[in-house]
Amino acid sequence: MKIHQPYGLEDCLTLLSELPPDATVILAGGTDLMPRYEQGRILPNNLINIKHLTELQGITETENGIEIGGLTTIEALQHSDLIRQEYPALWRSTAQFAGVQIRNRATLAGNIANASPAGDTLPSLYLYHAKLKLVSRHASRTTRLEDFLVGPGQTTQEPGELIQSIILPKVSGSSCFYKLGLRDAMAISVVNYALRYSNAEDGELTDLEITAGAVAPTIVFLDALTTAILGGETNIAAWQALIEQDIAPIDDIRASADYRRKVLGRLISHHLQRLGVGSHE
Ligand SMILES: Cc1cc2nc3c(=O)[nH]c(=O)nc-3n(C[C@H](O)[C@H](O)[C@H](O)COP(=O)(O)OP(=O)(O)OC[C@H]3O[C@@H](n4cnc5c(N)ncnc54)[C@H](O)[C@@H]3O)c2cc1C
Repeated sequence: MKIHQPYGLEDCLTLLSELPPDATVILAGGTDLMPRYEQGRILPNNLINIKHLTELQGITETENGIEIGGLTTIEALQHSDLIRQEYPALWRSTAQFAGVQIRNRATLAGNIANASPAGDTLPSLYLYHAKLKLVSRHASRTTRLEDFLVGPGQTTQEPGELIQSIILPKVSGSSCFYKLGLRDAMAISVVNYALRYSNAEDGELTDLEITAGAVAPTIVFLDALTTAILGGETNIAAWQALIEQDIAPIDDIRASADYRRKVLGRLISHHLQRLGVGSHE
């Protein structure tokens, strides 16, 4: 195996265009890749360590929102006042992500490209309608995150492409993220969700969006539930069936599909009740 270490984006994209795609892997923080190789996955012929690409670093405020470099670590997001104030659901997801050593290496683009249905930054990024800037040797394109993630471990990333940055538009209202794991730290989510809402001056809910992870092959919007609630469905007993319309959980080592269905319904119902929505009639 050969390890390549480009020090500029252009050099990296040239390498990516010249090396055979099926024998070449991009390495960022390595927190997903390295455990797999340690567990016996065959190493690729070429590993491109992108850690030194300054073009993929940092969080920039733009006219319409923010742009986060793909190599920005989870810990850097956790320390960003901008993320805490303007994108609190994303900020919360970084607080509940692994432990500090992993957060210092793990990158946002790595969490996206890994395409795990349980990836902790993903529900918030969906909630904020994130877009990805993808670059290759001769082209660049912007795509919605929802169009990029197509299944567990599957993306629409083309050979030779790199996630340069993640673009978040300005958002209104309040938002938050919640994760349920089998323990408080260093745990993969059994379920996770992000929620955004706005209220009118009289307190009435005017806007509501909820995304959920680890309950379908990719992150889902709980549109049946939020549309019904905004349409006046306040009866909590009706909510579970509405949530189940948009999810398709599976049994795995962490939880059964049935548990995931029920616990997601309970958590979201309690959350909405704390916001003053819902009644038992
Ligand atoms: C102990 C432990 C605890 C963990 N806890 C959590 C947790 O709580 N929540 C959670 O969501 N995840 C968790 N993870 C998983 C992992 O840390 C994250 O998914 C992390 O964000 C991956 O980022 P990375 O930079 O380490 O990716 P890498 O391992 O370097 O790469 C992952 C994938 O992304 C690709 N890639 C990386 N950067 C780019 C780019 N810029 N463009 C295109 N492709 C790219 C790589 O080729 C590879 O396919 C944990 C992992 C470990 C080992």
